[in-house]
Amino acid sequence: MLLYIHVPFCRGKCRYCSFVSRPFDMAAVEAYAASLAAEMRLWGRKLEHPKVETVYFGGGTPSLLPPWALSRLMPELRRQFDLDAAVEWTFEANPDSALDSQYLESLLKYGVNRLSLGVQSLADDDLRFLGRPHDAGQAVAAYCLARQAGFANISLDFIWGLPGQRESQWLEQLKLAVRMRPEHLSCYGLTVEEGTPLAAEAAAGGLILPGESEQGRMYVHGAEYLEEQGYLQYEVSNFARMGFVSRHNSGYWEGRDYLGLGPAAVSTLRGVRFENPGEQADWAARVRRGTVGQGGEALTDGQKAREMVMLSLRTAKGLPLRAYRKATGRDFIKDNEALITALRQNGLIRLSSGHLRLTKNGFLVSNVILERLAY
Ligand code: SF4
Repeated sequence: MLLYIHVPFCRGKCRYCSFVSRPFDMAAVEAYAASLAAEMRLWGRKLEHPKVETVYFGGGTPSLLPPWALSRLMPELRRQFDLDAAVEWTFEANPDSALDSQYLESLLKYGVNRLSLGVQSLADDDLRFLGRPHDAGQAVAAYCLARQAGFANISLDFIWGLPGQRESQWLEQLKLAVRMRPEHLSCYGLTVEEGTPLAAEAAAGGLILPGESEQGRMYVHGAEYLEEQGYLQYEVSNFARMGFVSRHNSGYWEGRDYLGLGPAAVSTLRGVRFENPGEQADWAARVRRGTVGQGGEALTDGQKAREMVMLSLRTAKGLPLRAYRKATGRDFIKDNEALITALRQNGLIRLSSGHLRLTKNGFLVSNVILERLAY
C-alpha cells in the first residue's frame, strides 16, 4: 500500500496554484497535527497496521511543519503503519523552508530518504512571476544543505512554458538543473488553472504563453537533452537517473492501493475511492467522529479500465495489452483500431513488446490523445 499525507500549509499562494492549501498559522498547525495523529491511529486500527511500501508527505509545504510537529507525527506513523524495510519515504520541501541543516538531518533520522524540492526555476524573474516564496540562490543553497545533511535521493521540480520563455532559455534551465546532479527531475508545463491569479491575468488578456510550436520544441528537446544526460523519461513529466524512479508515483500509475491522510487527501482501497473534506475543520470533525473513509464510491469495471488506460499511457512503459485484456475481456487495439492507426501514422504512438506507448511527441499532446482513447 502507498501512504500519502497532505500538509495543507503554505507561506503564501503561488500565482499558478490551485492545490488545497492555507496560510501557515501555528494554532492551525497544532490542530492539524492532533487530527492527523488521530487519523493515523484510526487507520492503523482499522487496517490492522498495514504494510506500507512508500510514504509521501506532499502539500502544501510539508517543510513548514515545525520540529515539534514532526516529533509527534513521525513516531505515530511508525506505530500505526508497518513500514517496509525498503520504504521509499518522500518529503516535499520548498527552498525557503528547507534552509536548516538540523531540520534536514532530523528528517533523515525519522526515516525520510527522498527529498522533493520545489525549485520551479533558477531564474529570479521567473520565480517572481510565479509568486514563489524563494529565490534561485535559496534553491541552490537548500539543495546543497540537503546533500550535506546526507540526502542521497533528491528530486527537483521545474516549470516550463512561462510567458516569454524561449526554447533556449528552458534548455539553459535544464543545464543548470543537470549541473546540480539531482537523482530525479519533474518538469511540468505551466497550466492556467481556474480561480488562480494567473487565470485572472489571462482573462484580462495580460498573459501570453509561448506558442504551440515553441512549447513543442521546449518539451521534446528538453526531454531529449535530459535523456542524453542520463535522465530517463519514465512518465510525461518525470525523469530519473538509473534506479531513482519514484516508486510512490509509479504506484499510482500502476493502479496500486493508496491511503491518503489529511485534508483533501484521496484514497483508493480495494476498488473503493473516497476523499477527505478539503476544509481542515470538516476533516478534523470527521476524524473525531471516526467516520473518515465512509461514503466512498466503488469504482465500476468501466472506470477501472478507463483509469488503467489513462494512467499507464502516461508512462514510458505504456499500456500492457495482455493485462488490459485480462482485466476487461476486451482487445484494446481492435476496439480503437482507426484512432490507433492514425496516431501511429503520425508518430504519436507505437506498439512494442505487447505494450502500447506514446512517443515523445505523443506525450506532448497526451491530454488530447488520452481523452479520445479512454472513452
Ligand atoms: S508552495 Fe506549492 S502548494 Fe503552496 S501555494 Fe505554492 S505551488 Fe501551491
